[in-house]
Amino acid sequence: MSESGLLEKDITCPFCWELILILVEPFEAQTYTEDCSVCCHPILIRTEIFGEDLIVSATQEDEGF
Ligand SMILES: [Zn+2]
Repeated sequence: MSESGLLEKDITCPFCWELILILVEPFEAQTYTEDCSVCCHPILIRTEIFGEDLIVSATQEDEGF
């Protein structure tokens, strides 16, 4: 865990398929968009908490709803 209290997670960008590192809140389920640091497309990031595990999913912003 980083000093800011955020958790580092790596996700695969759904646009360019590069592995990128994001920082997420470790104890809070969230949905937000973050621009890919490689291709700059907006990635929809969803975090869910299952027990002690934090599950991060990354999809294209206009999918999944
Ligand atoms: Zn990308």
